[in-house]
Amino acid sequence: MEQRKTISGHKEDTGNHGCTGKHGNEGKTGNLRNAGRICGEFLLDLLFPRRCPVCDRVLRFRKELVCPSCFRTVRFVREPFCMKCGKSLPEEGEYCRDCREKGHLYVQGAAVFEYAGMAPSIYRFKYGGRQEYAEFYGKCMAEVLGKRMKRWGVQALIPVPIHPSRKRRRGYNQAELLAEVIGSLTGIPVRKDIIARGKKTVPQKDLNVKQRQNNLKKAFKILENDVKLDTIVIIDDIYTTGSTIDAMTAVLHGAGVNRVYYAALAIGNGL
Ligand SMILES: [Zn+2]
Ligand SMILES: [Zn+2]
Repeated sequence: MEQRKTISGHKEDTGNHGCTGKHGNEGKTGNLRNAGRICGEFLLDLLFPRRCPVCDRVLRFRKELVCPSCFRTVRFVREPFCMKCGKSLPEEGEYCRDCREKGHLYVQGAAVFEYAGMAPSIYRFKYGGRQEYAEFYGKCMAEVLGKRMKRWGVQALIPVPIHPSRKRRRGYNQAELLAEVIGSLTGIPVRKDIIARGKKTVPQKDLNVKQRQNNLKKAFKILENDVKLDTIVIIDDIYTTGSTIDAMTAVLHGAGVNRVYYAALAIGNGL
């Protein structure tokens, strides 16, 4: 328990929810079924070896989601953090400089990991076909932020959409994969039918703040005009300036959603 407290850095969300990096739901199965399962896992290991999200090496056992040694190196967001965006603060305080200066449309948000040090892993997850990382990353998000999402009263998880052509090229949308894992572990429904990408946008990482705002104007379109949801949480992989979340929030407000929160895998220092 003590270790869980240290690794998550989110005291109120610990309890039995430390991110352990192991599969849950092992359940009580008979010996025969167990033998079959182990055999099946062995075959899966041979055919589709699972890789560690941190170092990308093939894991020895399928039930492991991350190397134990790598798990000790990941940096969870620790207190004190900004009351608005969840970014860790250099010293005690309520808000980060970014949130003090410009504010946000969303109510509040939080992330699990510090982006620094995670960049190569997240790059592989987004662009390198490593969709299997979603299992570990989604589990960490559910375990560290799940209780908080329930406390916020969220009725749905809405992943940040990507343009269909980008999704076709990449084969998946990493935010959707994260939302699906979180949804299966928390029981909160995932809604991919509410908001979509409008026009094709340039990747945000190549732009400065002003260009990002322009790029995001009309980047999202609502698919359902009268959304019967009061409170939702947007699921994203990386939070930097919050401009994507704010742009989505504006569109969702227009469709009748009152309270929008966000949860991200990693958070970087706003550019
Ligand atoms: Zn590793
Ligand atoms: Zn902040």
